[in-house]
Amino acid sequence: MDANAQNKLLPEVEDFLSNGPLRAMIGGQQVESSNGNTFETHDPGSGEKLAEIFNMQTEDVNHAVDTATETFKGSGWAKLPQNERSVHMHRLADAVEKHKAVFDQLESLDCGKVLVQAEMDIQNFIDTMRYYGDLALHVQRRTVLPAKGHEAFTVRLPWGPCGFIIPWNFPFLLAGWGIGPAMAAGNTCVIKPAEDSPLSTLYLAHVAKDAGIPDGVINVIPGLGEVTGAALAGNPNLKRMSFTGSPEIGREIASKCGANLVPIKCELGGKGAAVVCDDVDIPDTAQKLVEAITFHTGQVCCDATRWLIQKDIYDSFVSECVDRMQKIHIGYQLDESTQMGPVVSRKQEERVLGYLARGVKEGAELVLEGGKAEVPSRNGHYVKPALLAGSLDNVAACEEIFGPVAYLAPYDTDEQAIEMTNNTDYGLGNSVWSSNLERAHGVAEQMVAGNSWINGHNLIVHGVPYAGIGKSGMGGGVLSIETLLDYWRPLTVLRPL
Ligand code: ADP
Repeated sequence: MDANAQNKLLPEVEDFLSNGPLRAMIGGQQVESSNGNTFETHDPGSGEKLAEIFNMQTEDVNHAVDTATETFKGSGWAKLPQNERSVHMHRLADAVEKHKAVFDQLESLDCGKVLVQAEMDIQNFIDTMRYYGDLALHVQRRTVLPAKGHEAFTVRLPWGPCGFIIPWNFPFLLAGWGIGPAMAAGNTCVIKPAEDSPLSTLYLAHVAKDAGIPDGVINVIPGLGEVTGAALAGNPNLKRMSFTGSPEIGREIASKCGANLVPIKCELGGKGAAVVCDDVDIPDTAQKLVEAITFHTGQVCCDATRWLIQKDIYDSFVSECVDRMQKIHIGYQLDESTQMGPVVSRKQEERVLGYLARGVKEGAELVLEGGKAEVPSRNGHYVKPALLAGSLDNVAACEEIFGPVAYLAPYDTDEQAIEMTNNTDYGLGNSVWSSNLERAHGVAEQMVAGNSWINGHNLIVHGVPYAGIGKSGMGGGVLSIETLLDYWRPLTVLRPL
């Protein structure tokens, strides 16, 4: 590992990383892959290897699903009184909180996230466990129905083993959004973390065991997408599947689940717009949008990547943004002065640089050049923030780049801005920025997506549903009571009187 990084690591982090190849956790047992195959995860900020990990094969994945099934049927977890299961949710939250500094470092190190942002993600996981633990106590699971001549009621029951395929950009936070509602409802979980950032979820498996979560409730199977992920997606014994990642892989996984009639929820990509009206506070709005596009180096599916700016403030707004973006301090993710860290991998670096080149080739104006960034004594995957402008038919305006790159275009009227916003197959998160709330609400409600935000972007709050439509997702969202209800199967009981 990179010597500079090693100096900063907690002893628990060093111990964990030095115990490789790291194993899966299935039924409370640490398990190697059946054929001994492994893969490596790297520090995106230095390019150095962090750990070797077992790459779980199809038979290992099937073993994990079988174990989750047996745990569901035989461990008593599914039938626990809700208050006892909610106590477990709080114990898990407390245990993660106790080891928070370790999780923070692992997450920052593994996906290149600036440490303060990793800290927010781990806190979000803790909050998610507590939120669903508490919420589940207050859901009425038995509802009497007024049916003529019959005794009738519906009851909500857990489904069984649920699969989760997680992407690399918010590994721990998204694992929490997945398993929180599933566990609180009494299901068992099989989690396939992303190969680029599996460490925090692997560590969770140990912490959950120590916290007394019954063996087999949380199973973690690391591995490559085309091996481990494909096997999990194709397992017919899962009762529900949740996938977060790219639309291309989402389509593939959804087809497999469809063939097995396993219900699936997909949270996919986005190409969100920010509509900036001419009555905004220009410096304040510029600052917030620059923060949004550089947050986790732009590797955020709901980010504002198309900035639609009303014509009369276009020049002054863009020049405020350029000034701010040029001052962003790019550096190693664990360094305190760093505002923007690396992208996750060489593949991602090439993707960002490739879109910049293709965008320019198709005629986009390069407002802020971007390109590869150098960080002294670090051989990581660093890119500079960039701004392109021009026709919205450009490839960089249409496709998801997943980097710190925004595409700018001027507009005249609000109607025009709404039309430009909605001219995409994606439908995740858009925002409108205005000091006139009536105007802002009018625009927000005409945006075709799962989420419209006013005077903010990437706004995520527990209790408020978050979901995509179209190419951005299907099958229900996350973070609200609806998500919890998804993890109970409805049963109707009817008896003639
Ligand atoms: P991203 O573009 O964010 O990397 P991906 O869709 O490629 O998103 O990956 C998201 C998750 O899907 C990761 O855990 C990855 O391992 C997994 N994955 C990738 N390919 C497949 C596949 N063919 N089948 C199942 N899972 C896959």
